[in-house]
Amino acid sequence: MAVTEPATTALSGAHEGILRRQSLRESAARTYARSLPIVPVRARGLTIEGADGRRYLDCLSGAGTLALGHNHPVVLEAIRKVLDSGAPLQVLDLATPVKDAFTTELFATLPRQLADTARIQFCGPAGTDAVEAALTLVRTATGRTGMLAFTGAYHGMTAGALAVSGGARDVRVTRLPYPHNYRCPYGVGGERGAELAARWTENLLDDPKSGVPAPAGMILEPVQGEGGVHPAPDAWMRRMREITASRSIPLIADEVQTGVGRTGTFWAVEHSGVVPDVMVLSKAIGGSLPLAVIVYRDGLDTWKPGAHAGTFRGNQLAMAAGAATLAHVRENRLADRAAVLGARMLGQLQGLAAEHPCVGDVRGRGLMIGVELVDPEREDLGSGDPPPPDPALAAVVQQECLRRGLIVELGGRHSSVVRLLPPLTLTDEQAVAVLDRLADAVAAAARAPHPRADPEAGARHRAGTGPAH
Ligand code: PMP
Repeated sequence: MAVTEPATTALSGAHEGILRRQSLRESAARTYARSLPIVPVRARGLTIEGADGRRYLDCLSGAGTLALGHNHPVVLEAIRKVLDSGAPLQVLDLATPVKDAFTTELFATLPRQLADTARIQFCGPAGTDAVEAALTLVRTATGRTGMLAFTGAYHGMTAGALAVSGGARDVRVTRLPYPHNYRCPYGVGGERGAELAARWTENLLDDPKSGVPAPAGMILEPVQGEGGVHPAPDAWMRRMREITASRSIPLIADEVQTGVGRTGTFWAVEHSGVVPDVMVLSKAIGGSLPLAVIVYRDGLDTWKPGAHAGTFRGNQLAMAAGAATLAHVRENRLADRAAVLGARMLGQLQGLAAEHPCVGDVRGRGLMIGVELVDPEREDLGSGDPPPPDPALAAVVQQECLRRGLIVELGGRHSSVVRLLPPLTLTDEQAVAVLDRLADAVAAAARAPHPRADPEAGARHRAGTGPAH
């Protein structure tokens, strides 16, 4: 990453111009680009170098795609090997040695019970396309249309995926309570809150007058990411498995963000031992390039040829980069590493919460971590409720992080949760640097005057400068 002086100077000059042209030419719907006005020109591991000559520690990791950080040597080598081999780069869904190797490596990582009978459908390259495929699959297999989905869910931006996400309303989707420890809808949190959420789900399905027709499937994230980093308790996951299995409802685990070691196990369902009927996989499985698949038990494979199609289902470079990433994570036990390092980081962040009343909650699993910013001055004392979220403060923390060379994402219902998704290759020293910068940024933001939280701010933030997914 050594950069010679003249190049740095030239790039610094380019920085402003590129950002200015971007704001003039690109869509009003652009997202990350608004809150992170940087121009990446080089990257390696955790570090991005901007055209301004500055270096940033990247804890956004391409929205969780970069399990091994930027430009990891095993990923680059796998890509080069395909390029040098003369293999075709685009082959629709034809068989190739590269694809064969990817599928073998992926199946080796799956929960045994699923792998033994698994089928794989290669989808269009985005996570949302694989979600659509999963919905079509279970609707075809069951002959039903309704879906069970959860408050706070995020599954993507295409019509079906949006319908099952928390922000949308769709008559074919029944919304169920996802356990929320900090802001528990039942006011109790913990295991008890999760159990009440499960009972509500069970009750809706068994009450003949609940208004919920027999569904085609249930879709859930084992840890809600965009919803604000909410790990589902393992007992609740097992309850969802029992509830769905005993009623012949296929269970779809959306592991687009939680997969490939991120939460401390290779797949997040492994924490609870739940074996879903369908898994939706994307982001890190492509080793930084676009790739999305569903894997499912073969009993569901009743759909017809072309039931879910798409031109770009054969990205050979992504499959090679993905296979190399999966193998590297597996061989180097990076999921275990994420569990240990993530637990340590969470512990340190709890110290930050103890120091700053504006840090309302710290939560996560593995290297999927969230820090919720709140407005303690608006706490309704005696109500037992936590203070309201403070999206304005969260935005200031994000900017203070950037000033200190740390890239973080905001998420959650009100964009008030600072999210950390560092690569699984994060070293102890890098983890210390990340937390030092974050602690410094929180302290600076807590001191600085900022517009107070108001309930609408989250919605406005999301519509304009809020997180993209
Ligand atoms: N599911 C989950 C759990 C996600 O986090 C995301 C993206 N953040 C998606 C689906 C959609 O993936 P994509 O943006 O690639 O369409």
